[in-house]
Amino acid sequence: MDRRLQELREKLAEVEDLGRAARVLGWDQQTMMPPTGAPARPQQLAALERLAHELFTAPAIGRLLEELRPYEESLDPESIDASLVRVTRRDYEKAVRVPPELSADIARSASLAQQAWVEARSASDFERFRPLLERNLELKSRYVDCFEPAGERYDVLLDDFEHGTTTGEVREIFARVKERLVPLIAAVGEAGRPVDTSLLQGAYPIDRQLEFERSVLARFGYTDESWRMDPSAHPFATNFSSRDIRLTTRHFDDNLSGMFASMHECGHGLYEYGSAPELDRTPLAGGVSLGLHESQSRLWENLVGRSRQFWRRFYPELRSIFPDALRAGDGEEFYRAVNSVKPSLIRVEADEVTYGLHVILRFELEQELVDGRLELAALPDAWNERMFEYLGVEVPTDADGVLQDIHWSGGIFGYFPTYLLGSVMSVQIWEAAGRAIPDLDERVEAGEFDALREWLRETLHRHGRMFTPKETLARVVGGPLDPEPYLAYLERKAEDVYGLAVPVGG
Ligand code: ZN
Repeated sequence: MDRRLQELREKLAEVEDLGRAARVLGWDQQTMMPPTGAPARPQQLAALERLAHELFTAPAIGRLLEELRPYEESLDPESIDASLVRVTRRDYEKAVRVPPELSADIARSASLAQQAWVEARSASDFERFRPLLERNLELKSRYVDCFEPAGERYDVLLDDFEHGTTTGEVREIFARVKERLVPLIAAVGEAGRPVDTSLLQGAYPIDRQLEFERSVLARFGYTDESWRMDPSAHPFATNFSSRDIRLTTRHFDDNLSGMFASMHECGHGLYEYGSAPELDRTPLAGGVSLGLHESQSRLWENLVGRSRQFWRRFYPELRSIFPDALRAGDGEEFYRAVNSVKPSLIRVEADEVTYGLHVILRFELEQELVDGRLELAALPDAWNERMFEYLGVEVPTDADGVLQDIHWSGGIFGYFPTYLLGSVMSVQIWEAAGRAIPDLDERVEAGEFDALREWLRETLHRHGRMFTPKETLARVVGGPLDPEPYLAYLERKAEDVYGLAVPVGG
């Protein structure tokens, strides 16, 4: 190996180590830390992040990247070494554009705004939060300026989470999604036969939920050697290497929503677990974009975990664990219940069909804020009007509306669209898996997921960040992002669950 490449690898490994150490602290903060540990933690995290940033943006890295140009040209562009230099150069060129003082201001402002958001949300008072959100937006605007964008300003924000995808592309896809989902939701509301969801509420002791989930997740690919599952206030997945995967979960003893959250987080974990171990300690390790990451969580949660085949196999097992709460049957009633569609206020509790509109609403408002077309003072009204227009629901309070998500308080704009892009990709990927594994449905009904997991690992997970998100998706599905499979899937399911005759197409 070229001596300079070896040197670059060693420097990047240290940067990566610091980042992973920060993740350990973050995971601990959400799962294990006693309350009085809280004041010291932001300082510890800030120190690690500052060191990692300094190491990564050091002139020595820039010099190595320059010196490596001729060597890079001699490499196979699909090799790990070529990808390492290419991806590092891209990350480096972005990182050095942002002055460290601006990054520090953004982090400080986010920390203050998050505290204010918690208080504003519990008082349901947007005005308390508004000046801090204003500051977050101002700083983000300065961040966008660092990149001297030739296209739309929102492109810069989106690029941090879905590199290479433009605002215009997302707008076009979301317009098609909105055009089909709004009438679909209306049709379910007007003409659908009622779906009985009462069996989702009942006495579901948490220790027994965990017993069931562990047996399911073990079939998905969770192993005690490499994974842990711990409770937290908000479920998430993280990892400290491809062989150290952490899931967090949240359960309630009167419903089964935690079970779907766990399948979701397991999908995120499987992506990281499938990243080739030789990518560990390089910037190539792990998921390539938030959209593709979300495609994996949604695939295991929805395409697998809310399918009829899945519940034909697992309903008897679930019922044997909860004989009082669940009635005898073949799982059909349960399948319909977990796929019921009902417009609601809160994104994270939304069903598969209405979920997309929650995301589209945020995407539209974010663009208007970033472009200065919407004043912050008018944001709650704009939110409420659109919730009524798209989902027909009245927003009673700011806490149930504009204040429900944490993202804006953390200065995070451009993230929301990836939730829906991931859902769109998840169905494209599922269909590609079905072409590669012709008996996929039968395997799900037999509770066998090895072929699916291995196909995902081979075609998607193992590449980590070696290719761009668009190249990565094309390798898996054979073409670009396309909302049609996702829309047809939702329409078929609504037809199936609600007995609707929905014209497919358009
Ligand atoms: Zn997720």
